[in-house]
Amino acid sequence: MSPKIFKAVIVGGGPAGLTAAYELSKQNAPVVVLEADPEYVGGISRTVNYKSFRFDIGGHRFFSKSREVEDLWTEIAGPDLLDRPRSSRIYYRGQFYTYPLKPFEALSKLGLFESIRCMASFAKARVNPTPNPKTFEDWVINQFGRRLFSIFFKTYTEKVWGMKCTEISADWAAQRIKGLSLGSAIKHALLPKRKPKDRTQVVKTLIDTFRYPRLGPGMMWETCSAKVRERGGEVLLGHPVVACRFDETRNLWIVTTRDADGRTEEFCGEHLISSMPIRELIAQIKPRLPENVSRAAQSLRYRDFLTVGLIVHDRGRFSDNWIYIHDPAVQVGRVQNYKSWSPEMVPDPAYSSYGLEYFCFEGDGLWTTPDADLIALAKKEIQQINLADAANITDGCVIRQRKAYPVYDDTYQQHVDTIRAELERTYPTLHLVGRNGMHKYNNQDHAMMTAMLTAKNILAGERKYDVWAVNQDAEYHEAGAAGAEQEAAPRAERIQQAV
Ligand SMILES: Cc1cc2nc3c(=O)[nH]c(=O)nc-3n(C[C@H](O)[C@H](O)[C@H](O)COP(=O)(O)OP(=O)(O)OC[C@H]3O[C@@H](n4cnc5c(N)ncnc54)[C@H](O)[C@@H]3O)c2cc1C
Repeated sequence: MSPKIFKAVIVGGGPAGLTAAYELSKQNAPVVVLEADPEYVGGISRTVNYKSFRFDIGGHRFFSKSREVEDLWTEIAGPDLLDRPRSSRIYYRGQFYTYPLKPFEALSKLGLFESIRCMASFAKARVNPTPNPKTFEDWVINQFGRRLFSIFFKTYTEKVWGMKCTEISADWAAQRIKGLSLGSAIKHALLPKRKPKDRTQVVKTLIDTFRYPRLGPGMMWETCSAKVRERGGEVLLGHPVVACRFDETRNLWIVTTRDADGRTEEFCGEHLISSMPIRELIAQIKPRLPENVSRAAQSLRYRDFLTVGLIVHDRGRFSDNWIYIHDPAVQVGRVQNYKSWSPEMVPDPAYSSYGLEYFCFEGDGLWTTPDADLIALAKKEIQQINLADAANITDGCVIRQRKAYPVYDDTYQQHVDTIRAELERTYPTLHLVGRNGMHKYNNQDHAMMTAMLTAKNILAGERKYDVWAVNQDAEYHEAGAAGAEQEAAPRAERIQQAV
């Protein structure tokens, strides 16, 4: 019997892969999603269940400037979405500071002498900013001054990336803290709160509420995959893709998976949608791509991440969703408080569960530390920062996340451009979507929008939309003069705020 030919074979059952499957199956296009994880869909946005305590990999706020993405979340899992208040703080040298920073609170906690130094260095940065800042350090100093940079940005950012702020591209700062400067933070603190006219005007870092599925972000993707299956689509777990071969005579993709027992299976599709890391995809494609493209893919770097989940017999000492740990005295980078995301993340209100987030590289000291030692480290550190009493911690687990962050270094853009140009020329039926799939440090909404447009392209039988034109806010901007104008506006706004 000849194998079934799918309209699209989709690699990865994260937000991007499942959104593509959802949109295509809605139009009755036969699809299969191949997911490496044997247990969970959702990718980085999955929810891990440990003894009925639920752990989010990070904390996933469901907020998008894109109305289409918000509507899709409502369509998939509307009744299960809670509206949650946002509350987060920074821990620095024994003190907690509201985040986003409230300038007057921050300055009063820092003390008179330190505050004067901060204001003087801010004034200096305003008068004499670095023109066209290329590094994260220069970009933030332009916005906040050197002193505030070294207190509130440097340690945490270096923990996250494992490299110096002078080696991190300004692109990352411009994207992650876009629109935020000491000026805008002061304005936000002083002015009465007005609802922005439309959601595109919101500074993402400053949003006060967000939506959240009551059982964690994975609930969205479990519901989505159930809907794909109801429509006849297939979502196969425990199916890591190991080879992607293009059959030129039939114009089809032959995708091979190999399970944990070494059994292989082949899937055949008119289109291949990939959300796996570009570096891995390029190594799997046959016929092989030119040497410079393989080299470009091998040069892409990633930052990995692990969460130590702690279960505490205590109703909780704090109500923040998360706390950034800027203190260099401990290794933990951030603490998540899952009960504040949704009360249903814990099975018994007499308990709390926390996620201590450690940033690392796969294979390094932290990554390879045995789970029991990591739990012991987390217990010691949470006590040290006074968020829980180690004696009340009853259990713990460790969740490792490979390739949590695509790294934006000096050369990544050039490598991505090389790969993209070659793939578009050679394989028009191969579609890159999502975070590692496009090497874009972005949220679910971006991953979903790239998948939604890819589904439209496939259904239209032509590339009507350029998914690379989706910006970090999941907004689609056409290339060319009109697109350039639209892009220019927010940048000008940013410069105004910085000066
Ligand atoms: C700490 C942290 C906090 C975050 N907070 C937020 C937030 O508040 N809000 C928000 O919207 N987003 C947030 N994000 C981003 C969000 O997690 C991602 O944008 C989103 O999950 C990307 O979706 P994706 O489908 O592109 O990739 P992924 O989620 O990475 O999914 C890719 C899937 O592909 C699978 N896969 C990979 N290789 C193969 C293979 N060879 N074969 C088969 N399957 C494969 C993986 O197992 C995975 O399931 C956060 C991310 C992190 C790391």
